[in-house]
Amino acid sequence: MSDAYDVVVIGGGPGGYVCAIRCAQLGFRTACVESRKTLGGTCLNVGCIPSKSLLNLSENYIKAKKFSSIGIETGKVALNLSQMMKIKEKSVTVLTKGVEFLLKKNKVDYIKGKASLKSNTEIIVEKNKSKKVYAAKNIVISTGSLPTSLPGMQIDEKNIVSSTGALSFNQVPKKLIIIGGGYIGLEMGSVWKRLGSDVTIIEFLDHIITGADVEISKEFLKILTKQGIIFKLNSIVTAANVIKNKVVVDFRHNKTAERTRVKTDKVLIAVGRRPNTEGLNLKEISIKNDSKGKIQVNKKFMTSIKNIYAIGDVIDGPMLAHKAEEEGIAVAEIIAGQSGHVNYEAIPGVIYTSPEVASVGKTEEALKKENIKYKIGKFPFMANPRAKVINETEGFVKILANEETDKILGVHMIGPHVGDLIAEISLAIEFGASSEDIARTCHAHPTYSEAVKEAALSVDKRPIHS
Ligand code: FAD
Repeated sequence: MSDAYDVVVIGGGPGGYVCAIRCAQLGFRTACVESRKTLGGTCLNVGCIPSKSLLNLSENYIKAKKFSSIGIETGKVALNLSQMMKIKEKSVTVLTKGVEFLLKKNKVDYIKGKASLKSNTEIIVEKNKSKKVYAAKNIVISTGSLPTSLPGMQIDEKNIVSSTGALSFNQVPKKLIIIGGGYIGLEMGSVWKRLGSDVTIIEFLDHIITGADVEISKEFLKILTKQGIIFKLNSIVTAANVIKNKVVVDFRHNKTAERTRVKTDKVLIAVGRRPNTEGLNLKEISIKNDSKGKIQVNKKFMTSIKNIYAIGDVIDGPMLAHKAEEEGIAVAEIIAGQSGHVNYEAIPGVIYTSPEVASVGKTEEALKKENIKYKIGKFPFMANPRAKVINETEGFVKILANEETDKILGVHMIGPHVGDLIAEISLAIEFGASSEDIARTCHAHPTYSEAVKEAALSVDKRPIHS
């Protein structure tokens, strides 16, 4: 194994490429194998980046239509969808090329092709029917996830699509049904609603965004409903059949058992993602999966084989790009004998709709379940000067702090730019800060961040502006 790589990372998504760069920084001879034509994984190619690009472009379209209300007279505002798609694709290209540059800069070998494990120290990479074997002292599996479907429903990426198809419609569907009220369904629903579709979201549960703080989820539902998205909660989709280029969708109410049949132009199935372990040869070399089919790892991201690690969407935990990145860095440091770790209590989650939704730490419901006594501080954006000036006053900041120690346990926000405001809270949680620490920190005026300070002041019932 003298010419073996120190580390071979399988997968060039946010988990994989970040891990490879950190490994190279630590002095390891590193390679990163990617089967897609471009680096960046789901995130850059068909996930975070193209969806955020379309969210931004569609938001601008909506704003442009309302320009005259703020004293800007324009001609008729018209949608040029193909131009929007070109801009989205350009963002993807620039960023995926950027990752390639970063690998090169850090002297990581970029190996193109599909990898499988030959043994615990050998990887076969297949490309255009040719195969090459690489030796590796350590292997990191970061092969991500794939969209899931529902029984009897076939994703054809034409009429019945996954998020990948919904990022590339070449026409605005007149009617769009989305199955699943999670963040992907809500973001894509917002995009297409803004661009002119009649959007209906069918959700099995009685609320949207599973696991979110219930107060936030209720407020979010109210706001999205006001924006014109139709929600069918407590409903299960039983069939979706393509008939003459339309989709006939059947769903049933969970409580009343009332059945409904509707015809739509497109259906987006956004019910979750499954780990991508296909063709890796895991069983043959005795790497174990958990009950959800994810690769089982210990606290050091080590699989059942000592020198093989796994990170990102392919292991347990929130399927988020930044979670994958943190794990990538941690595993590189662990391989180097350092004490790399991930603080799962401080991983934020953001939904990039308008307004945005962001949270980190425990929800009120989780605290009740765990019998942890807490105090609440809340502050509405309606009372925040910046939000008022910009006329983005929907939503609030909610801080949950330990009743005895005042330590911040969780923060949940809905409102303008909260996806950026949440970073302050992740840092606060990382540092074990109290709500008093935030309340006593000077926040610039006039900024949205003052709502965070005021919510912290509210924990001790002493807000200034409400
Ligand atoms: P991936 O990004 O899936 O990368 C895995 C890579 O491995 C892929 O490129 C794949 O081609 C490659 N691969 C697989 N098998 C092999 C093999 N055998 N050989 C070689 N290569 C292989 N997360 C956020 O944090 N914020 C967001 O705003 C956000 N928005 C999203 C929007 C959408 C529509 C979707 C679908 C996802 C979104 N996500 C978001 C989730 C995010 O994209 C994932 O959590 C993240 O990409 C996971 O990173 P990863 O490195 O684990 O896997």
